[in-house]
Amino acid sequence: MQHQTPPQQGRPWETQEPVRASVPSTRANHLTDNVLPVRPALVDRGSSERLKPGMVQALIESGNALAMVLAGRKALVQANELVLLDADFLAQSLGEAGVRPEHVIYLGSPLDDDHIAPGTGIVLFVLADALAPGTSGIPKAAEWAGFRDVAAQLDALHTALFVEASAIANWHSTHTHCPRCGARTTVEAGGWVRRCPEDGSEHYPRTDPAIIVTVVGADGRLLLGGGGPVDAKNYSTLAGFVEPGESLEQAVVREIFEEVGVRVTACQYLGSQAWPFPASLMLGFTALTSDVEPRPDGVEVTRARWFNRAELQDAVLQGDVVISSSLSISRSLIEHWYGGVIQDRPAGS
Ligand SMILES: [Zn+2]
Repeated sequence: MQHQTPPQQGRPWETQEPVRASVPSTRANHLTDNVLPVRPALVDRGSSERLKPGMVQALIESGNALAMVLAGRKALVQANELVLLDADFLAQSLGEAGVRPEHVIYLGSPLDDDHIAPGTGIVLFVLADALAPGTSGIPKAAEWAGFRDVAAQLDALHTALFVEASAIANWHSTHTHCPRCGARTTVEAGGWVRRCPEDGSEHYPRTDPAIIVTVVGADGRLLLGGGGPVDAKNYSTLAGFVEPGESLEQAVVREIFEEVGVRVTACQYLGSQAWPFPASLMLGFTALTSDVEPRPDGVEVTRARWFNRAELQDAVLQGDVVISSSLSISRSLIEHWYGGVIQDRPAGS
């Protein structure tokens, strides 16, 4: 998610501060500011079509489907793109090689894509093992890659497909049996429902809500924290899971106090990002505090530090601080506070 407000060049962030980098006005982080830009869905998930029994098999046999392939948490990629194979060809090739996919799931149909004809379905083949390229219908030049390894190179549609595929595959891998009676459940609705054959109960894919927050002090500075070794350079927004029976705002207040010991007095929702590694939905907030002395819990957060805008940009450029990559909502939230794009340290410097 890119923040779309351009930085206002040449304006000091505070009149008392020496200008060390070109930074935007402090107004950028005011709570009444715009939320993060909404990214429209790129895939029509076909939530009514997929209810038809046998629709996935029929779609594959129609010859109008492309296959994405996932094994473990890795997808087949080639030349910075997901490999999308003819689904019928892949199904036959796997069959001839005696390979039975763990799951075959309908992901949907891309909307307005330049390369994929309208109405083409995308089917996810989840394999138990990463088959060697050049065997069983897997192209010779393809390779297996995790989301973090390739996400920066993928286009928006392929990123969306990788995220959706990971989310649904992760759910199937950990929700194989009925939580009521322990019977193995069967898959329905193109892979989006599991049903218990014993008691008929239906089970739906699960998403775990987590809040992720920029904590802003009364002076406009941003509080970032990090885990691991106390001298590590990575700093991030603070985050934690929402507990059952808790509102999002209550989760923000509780988590921030637990992790860094500051009391949040107001918070505002800014936007979200699916992060199914394995099953999170990150709900982005900005929050205010009057407290000035962070007390890291020493477990999840081992260090916490206030930054003004110039300090943060300088520290990133100097390599003294590493913040989250531009793939993450953490970066979008930090840049929302900053009021523009934060320049990364040039590669190799
Ligand atoms: Zn059951």
